[in-house]
Amino acid sequence: MALAFTSSTSIAFSSSRTEQGVQLSSTKFQQSDRSHLVSPAALNLSRKRSGAVKALNAEPRRNDTIVPSAATVFAPDVVEKPIEIEDIETLAKDLEDASPLEIMDKALQKYGNDIAIAFSGAEDVALIEYAHLTGRPFRVFSLDTGRLNPETYKFFDAVEKHYGIRIEYMFPDSVEVQALVRTKGLFSFYEDGHQECCRVRKVRPLRRALKGLRAWITGQRKDQSPGTRSEVPVVQVDPVFEGMDGGSGSLVKWNPVANVAGNDIWNFLRTMDVPVNSLHAHGYVSIGCEPCTRAVLPGQHEREGRWWWEDAKAKECGLHKGNIKEETVNGDGNGEVHAKGSVSDIFNSNDIVSLSRPGMENLLKMEDRKDPWMVVLYAPWCQFCQAMEASYVEFAEKLAGSDMKVGKFRADGDEKAFAQQELQLGSFPTILFFPKHSSRPIKYPSEKRDVDSLMAFVNALR
Ligand code: SF4
Repeated sequence: MALAFTSSTSIAFSSSRTEQGVQLSSTKFQQSDRSHLVSPAALNLSRKRSGAVKALNAEPRRNDTIVPSAATVFAPDVVEKPIEIEDIETLAKDLEDASPLEIMDKALQKYGNDIAIAFSGAEDVALIEYAHLTGRPFRVFSLDTGRLNPETYKFFDAVEKHYGIRIEYMFPDSVEVQALVRTKGLFSFYEDGHQECCRVRKVRPLRRALKGLRAWITGQRKDQSPGTRSEVPVVQVDPVFEGMDGGSGSLVKWNPVANVAGNDIWNFLRTMDVPVNSLHAHGYVSIGCEPCTRAVLPGQHEREGRWWWEDAKAKECGLHKGNIKEETVNGDGNGEVHAKGSVSDIFNSNDIVSLSRPGMENLLKMEDRKDPWMVVLYAPWCQFCQAMEASYVEFAEKLAGSDMKVGKFRADGDEKAFAQQELQLGSFPTILFFPKHSSRPIKYPSEKRDVDSLMAFVNALR
């Protein structure tokens, strides 16, 4: 069904662009009933909530949360009481096949001034375009880590001008940044992982921002990270962060483009003539801080351009850490803990030897073993382990009958500390090669876990 905005919808929006004549014939979007905007009930609610709702250019709240937005022109639509988890799950099912525009409209309708779009300065500008197309007032916030590319700052400025909005920037705590940089230098993340710096520059400012909201909107897509983002629903109770009411379940996370492929996002941006970050023209896909983002080659996954010196498991900056089903070894405690035994085992093949703790200890002791071994340290709940299961089984099949043994060792739960101390476990999966004439295992260094890459590694060493 085609959508055409009327002047009565665009009047509530501060954009310099007109919605007149905007047509989206390919979406399933249907304009919702806006009669509640002028209903007595809505007016009463707005009056009751007047302390929380500020008009354009209102004096900002001088606290740590997001300040009222220049994009918020009118009082919000009706804001519902916090939704129960079951309600959100039902909503997610109802909206699973909805268009991003329809999902965005629903989110803005439900949460009014208590929801904001998280904008990273990359192709998630599509979210702003979708919000703009709904004709509803909306808020946008961004985390200025102090380490962004100049191109990203210019892009922020272009987006503000294009949509006639002010992005609500969140900055890290200056004392925390000072302490980090003075003790560890400007590039500590290359040496001891990105979590600490991300925690100071991103996660804590985000946490503060979200404490001023009941819901937020992200550009997460299922195809962005085959492991951590493959199950992103279009709406969910935020598994990590809290909203303004505090406590678990107090924040709802909307992911309107969860089901959209990266190519379709780009087609949409091109069609709508939306400004984009100029870094994309130089091979950047996923864009974050300057020292931690690089261009990727054609065919490379976009996440390979982020924190490339680290294992794939750690490649969530903490903003969407609920996607990770087990706390990472270096994590900051935000991840969910997955009960051992609640998922079935993986790497089940007659060509793969299942090693126990004594078996691993023996491998570590043998200085002159008859055969070399390749062993994957894994956790069956780990999506990266699941993702490499087929290639590892095929790899083992190819080596069956050769002098090379292929094994697996479940290294989560009680075995985790042992694996960390003795087996170089950093994150799952960790793959080790035990050469014939040395007890010291060699860690497989790449994130490429296809059969050819694994074979190349083994053939180079055995
Ligand atoms: Fe620090 Fe890099 Fe994280 Fe930015 S992406 S906050 S520079 S570790």
